[in-house]
Amino acid sequence: MRRGIWIALGVVAVLIVAGYVTLHSPAVDVWIYKRVANARMDKPIPTLAAPDELSALLCGTGSPMPNPDRAANCTLIAAGDKYYVVDAGQGSDKNFLTWRIDLSKVAGVFITHFHSDHIAELGELRLQTWVAGRKEPLKVYGPPGIEDVVNGFNLAYKHDAEHRVAHHGAKFLPPDAVPLVAVVVPLHDGKAATAFDQDGLRVTAIKVKHDPVVPAYGYRFDFKGHSIVVSGDTAPSENLMLASKGADVLIHEAQSAELVNVLHDALAAHGQSRTAQITHDILTYHTDPKDAAKIANEAHVKLLVFSHVIPVLGFSIAERAFMRGVSDVRPDGVKLGHDGMVITVKADGTIDTSDVN
Ligand SMILES: [Zn+2]
Ligand SMILES: [Zn+2]
Repeated sequence: MRRGIWIALGVVAVLIVAGYVTLHSPAVDVWIYKRVANARMDKPIPTLAAPDELSALLCGTGSPMPNPDRAANCTLIAAGDKYYVVDAGQGSDKNFLTWRIDLSKVAGVFITHFHSDHIAELGELRLQTWVAGRKEPLKVYGPPGIEDVVNGFNLAYKHDAEHRVAHHGAKFLPPDAVPLVAVVVPLHDGKAATAFDQDGLRVTAIKVKHDPVVPAYGYRFDFKGHSIVVSGDTAPSENLMLASKGADVLIHEAQSAELVNVLHDALAAHGQSRTAQITHDILTYHTDPKDAAKIANEAHVKLLVFSHVIPVLGFSIAERAFMRGVSDVRPDGVKLGHDGMVITVKADGTIDTSDVN
């Protein structure tokens, strides 16, 4: 009997050693990697809008404050099968690649203003849309000054493009297609202007209030009877409210003054006076969530979505504090946006929200 136990223990020990050796062999490591890689690639490339739909993918809902959960500002508008990117903040490029967005469909870029959290990834967007198969230069629309920003990124990424053409070949990466092309959108009446009118899509630039950043724009997208407005960075703006009248969706920036004040006091108490001063200064040129809710009500939009969320939240109680009081102003039709949220205005006018993954 005792001999039998020893034999059984010996067999178990041999199996454990054999299993350990097998699981740590190079061949098994690569086999597991292959299985995981193929499983990930089995997931379909996301379709963001059907031919008669207008949708928005939130590719960055954060701000310049460091936040592992939210890239800096970015909104992708899908009008049928064409994509338009509004702002390209830090980390938005990684979101696109992680979610396997088909960047060859990007047909234009709209920049709201030139703060770094709205332009930082323009160079990567230039590169990634080209690598994905973009065949023509990419137009970048924005306020006067957009030429400087675009020329700067073209210059900064010039050698990168040359190296890639030399490596992969001009047939695969046509050099003529790579540049960004600036398109200045002047405001003829000082309040709004048509920035784009093509393929059934009309984009209206809207002057908003982000002083001393002048002009700063929001954009309204109208496609097949549906409409989505992206506020850009702004203090409460009557002009934005008027331009958002009757829109299906208003994606509005939002900053909780109460939570920013808490952050300011904590920074000051910990001797971080420079960052504390910045948190004090930003109070003047953003919009509290409750004020954004009032604007959405006055404009009679169907759905309000908060993006460009300030400050960093990071846990559910902070989100609750951020949203406190909003339901008193607007009981329904309001959501706190997050990276990966897709808001779709369907052909019949109903609005659906989902996640890209
Ligand atoms: Zn800004
Ligand atoms: Zn910003």
